Amino acid sequence: MKNIIAPSLVKFAIQPVRVEFRSDEIERNFQVHHLVRNQASLRTTLIFCSFFYLAFALTDAIVLGYTSETLLLLAARMFVAITATVGLYQVRLRPASVITLQLAATAAEIVGMGTFMLIVRHRPSEIPWHAMSFCIMLIVVYIFIPNRLIVSKCIAFLSTAIFIVVVLKTSTLKLSDMLTMSMLLLLTNSFGLVAARRYQRLWRDEYRVQSLLTEQAMKDHLTGCFNRRHLHDVLLPAELKRARRHRLSFGVILCDIDHFKSINDTYGHLCGDAVLRSCSALLQRLVRQQVDCVVRYGGEEFLLLLPQTDRLGAVNLAERLRQAFAETSVEWSGQSIAVTASFGVLAVDLAGGNTEVTEEAIIAAADSLLYRAKTKGRNNIQSDDLLHRMASRSV
Ligand code: GH3
Ligand code: MG
Ligand code: MG
Repeated sequence: MKNIIAPSLVKFAIQPVRVEFRSDEIERNFQVHHLVRNQASLRTTLIFCSFFYLAFALTDAIVLGYTSETLLLLAARMFVAITATVGLYQVRLRPASVITLQLAATAAEIVGMGTFMLIVRHRPSEIPWHAMSFCIMLIVVYIFIPNRLIVSKCIAFLSTAIFIVVVLKTSTLKLSDMLTMSMLLLLTNSFGLVAARRYQRLWRDEYRVQSLLTEQAMKDHLTGCFNRRHLHDVLLPAELKRARRHRLSFGVILCDIDHFKSINDTYGHLCGDAVLRSCSALLQRLVRQQVDCVVRYGGEEFLLLLPQTDRLGAVNLAERLRQAFAETSVEWSGQSIAVTASFGVLAVDLAGGNTEVTEEAIIAAADSLLYRAKTKGRNNIQSDDLLHRMASRSV
């Protein structure tokens, strides 16, 4: 049997070497989603590491005494702390920048590792201690400093190679000790890498589940339009607030397929579903992308929310939609099914700063215009201004 892969798994597929989402857009959104948490963990790790880097200057002084070497190492240790501080300051200046966070992390890793090699060269008699410290640094690079895995991996492997070369050149370690140390470093790299990969994968799995749940909570499964809950929880309140604040007008179109029940009765429910998908695709194609919202409001009823649109603009769009419906037939099992729709078009003009307009009043007015379009023979548009309706009712 052929393996069927869920579309969501394809969309959120992870590249196995980098352990990042294959889709650049999803990876970018993921990085932004984790930015605040990563900034906090970079801050904690770099402050902690800088403190220990500086504190260990005491051991330089004990081993080397008050010499120029001690001062050189102190300067190098301060350079690590300064790099970390400048990086964290840049992250603070650009809190929305993922690249700044990654650059700060990379700079701290490179300078930290480079300085460590200098320390090893100047204190060649304590290789076992250096090897132990280096293992801890590898774990910090793999797991605690938030960076792209590919970067951490390169820095960790390259610095391990450099460390081994420095030890070979500066110390008189026995061959067997040298081999043991190299193997232990390889082991640390391997476990660090496995743990880092697990972390990267787990965070992305969690993000995938969260994104899918968020999408499912706001979208209608059959048509891919926004659902009614999202309209009332987010879209309509936000549009009303925006229009009130900036004294704008917006349009609402309620669109209902005519005699849809008879399509279901004649061709079956599956055909009805296909008609719904085709109609929603048509609506989504003809509205302004990224501006207008198409909502499946009920069974065969769609609501269009049109920001910054006056009555004329909304009526023109409704007329284009009405014609498109009438001209497009849906193919089903070799038959052409003609579909028409009726439209209630409402303009909500808040240029005068009216505060009495409510979501309920908007929906009720659009609904009654749609009802009028139905009673006027269907395949028809009826429009009005909300304020005009409210005023005429209060008279
Ligand atoms: P009108 O012109 O007055 O709008 O008549 P109508 O037949 O379109 O409206 P009516 O409200 O009588 O019927 C709507 C039908 O839509 C009834 C219901 O079974 C069907 N329906 C609701 N949701 C779905 C769905 O998801 N898929 C399918 N295939 N049918 C649905
Ligand atoms: Mg209908
Ligand atoms: Mg209906």
